Amino acid sequence: MDSKLTGKVKHMGGCACGEVRYGFYEPTVTNLACHCRACQYASGGGPAYVVTVRREEFRVTRGRPREFTTLSEAGHHVTRVFCGECGSPLYSYSDAEDRFCAVKVGSLDEPGKFKPRLHIWTSEAQPWHKRGLFSAKFRKNPPIRGAKRTDAAENGGND
Ligand SMILES: [Zn+2]
Ligand SMILES: [Zn+2]
Repeated sequence: MDSKLTGKVKHMGGCACGEVRYGFYEPTVTNLACHCRACQYASGGGPAYVVTVRREEFRVTRGRPREFTTLSEAGHHVTRVFCGECGSPLYSYSDAEDRFCAVKVGSLDEPGKFKPRLHIWTSEAQPWHKRGLFSAKFRKNPPIRGAKRTDAAENGGND
C-alpha cells in the first residue's frame, strides 16, 4: 500500500455496466463544467461536468477502458477515456497539463458532492445551455498556475 495516500478521502466511480472501476483521493483540484464542442460530443449534448484530480492520486482499479485522442485548438493531445462495453465517458487527460486528469462527475458513485465552481469554454456553449448560474466563467481555458501553457487562456466575458 502506498503510505503517501493514507488518511486521505477516497472517491470511487465507474461505468454504467460495471466493467470499469476507478478510485482517487482528495484533495481534488477543482470542479468545473466544460462547454467546448468536443465535450458536447462526449457528454451527449450538454457540457462535461468534471472534477479535476491529480493523476498520481487516480487509479483504474478494474477493467481496461478504451481511449479516443483528438487535437485541441492549441495543438495539444486530449484523450477521452470511456468504457468499451457500455460507452460511459469516464475521464480525460491532456498533454497540455499532464499533472491532472478530469473525471466525469456522472461516473462517480456519489456525484452530488461535486457541484461545479467554474464554467469554461463558454464561447462554444450552445445558445440553449443554461447560463448565469455561476460567477466564474472563462471563454476558453482558465489560467493554471505553473502550467506549461494553456489553450489561449482568455478570461472572458459574462454571457
Ligand atoms: Zn461499462
Ligand atoms: Zn471541453
